Amino acid sequence: MIGPLAGFFAPWAVFAGILLLHLVLPARRVTGYVRDERTGELLRYRLNGLPVFLVVIGGWFAAGCCGAMPWDWLWSHRWPGAAGALTLGLLLSAAVVLTAPKAAADEAGAGRAAGGASEPVAGQPPSGTGLIADLYLGRRINPRMFRGRVDAKMYLYLAGATLLELNLLSFAAHHFITHAGDPSPGVVLYVVLLTWFVCDYLVFERVHLYTYDLFAERVGFKLVWGCLFWYPYFYAVGLWAVADLPNPHAPAWLPVLAAATFFAGWILARGANMQKFHFKRDPERAFLGMVPRALSDGERRVLCSGFWGVSRHVNYLGEILMATGLALSLGWPLVLGPWLYPMYYLALLLPRERDDDRRCAAKYGPLWERYREKVPWRILPRVY
Ligand code: NDP
Repeated sequence: MIGPLAGFFAPWAVFAGILLLHLVLPARRVTGYVRDERTGELLRYRLNGLPVFLVVIGGWFAAGCCGAMPWDWLWSHRWPGAAGALTLGLLLSAAVVLTAPKAAADEAGAGRAAGGASEPVAGQPPSGTGLIADLYLGRRINPRMFRGRVDAKMYLYLAGATLLELNLLSFAAHHFITHAGDPSPGVVLYVVLLTWFVCDYLVFERVHLYTYDLFAERVGFKLVWGCLFWYPYFYAVGLWAVADLPNPHAPAWLPVLAAATFFAGWILARGANMQKFHFKRDPERAFLGMVPRALSDGERRVLCSGFWGVSRHVNYLGEILMATGLALSLGWPLVLGPWLYPMYYLALLLPRERDDDRRCAAKYGPLWERYREKVPWRILPRVY
């Protein structure tokens, strides 16, 4: 009974440790994009995701080296671990929503993004449509803890990313222990690519302050449960599905195709996000040698060149390609498990693009119409 109990509470301990490290390790202090609805001031953030991540992974490595914890402990306890993370996600989601006065959602509304994006979030039920909607979407927009030292959203993403990496390493360790004589290179490639994905987020943590999650979403089940359970457990679904299987001896072109697809996607996603990030901070600044071209109504501007001239959400295409590369990398193209990951991205990003398009149409009005005419493709140029 001790084993399953320890497994159940392991994510709780990991999340508590991450919170402590986030509080005590030195952090960059940056100004974000979202305004505090009450004061009108741009929110300030403490960002130290990468150092926290490195300390936790270093701790895991040290525990494995000195024999304090088997390398594959999180694999052996993955079911109780997932149950523990799921339970904690549900409890915290309920706590964060039910302790907010109902009116908080209306008062806080969607945080006002710099530039005045204060319209209700199109595509989401307006706050106050019922308890179920409130539980799912949340009431508070940007809750902060420890006198503002911890931004709940940024902590949640950091916690999810770090536990995902621990799971990946432990699941891969299980594969190497079980198939020590002939391990699969696909497992190595998958861990390298997904680690790239996680580290990329942490390196560019600041850019995330300019994304939809920060300015348009409230903190409820979707975000809390999503970050504490779904992100660290479901995102590893490929390895979850094939870590027990032997080396598939995939043809040599398959890992090449997988890595090429992944990095093509990364260039689109990271490139688009960085171009928009720089444009929002300095609309005249060239990015990768590309001088920005924008449509303007005299007051506001919408970028229509570079990545943002290819399609209106080419970054989502990038994410879907990265997910496809990950599914291919394991070398089991006919096994369903790894494909659940790109399928999930389609289910997540297609409606999200519609929501964001409605939000932008409401915010920018005729300017957005002009952008739609100039860049008619939503995600995939010439197709969709
Ligand atoms: P975007 O980065 O596309 O942000 C959309 C917002 O950007 C709009 O609401 C608008 O906000 C602004 N915008 C849109 N088009 C333009 C334009 N042409 N010119 C200027 N501003 C524009 O979407 P997300 O925030 O959803 O995604 C951010 C990143 O995170 C993406 O790469 C996405 O794929 C990734 N992501 C990853 C997930 C994962 O699980 N791995 C999940 C979800 C997203 P404004 O009001 O500021 O103008």
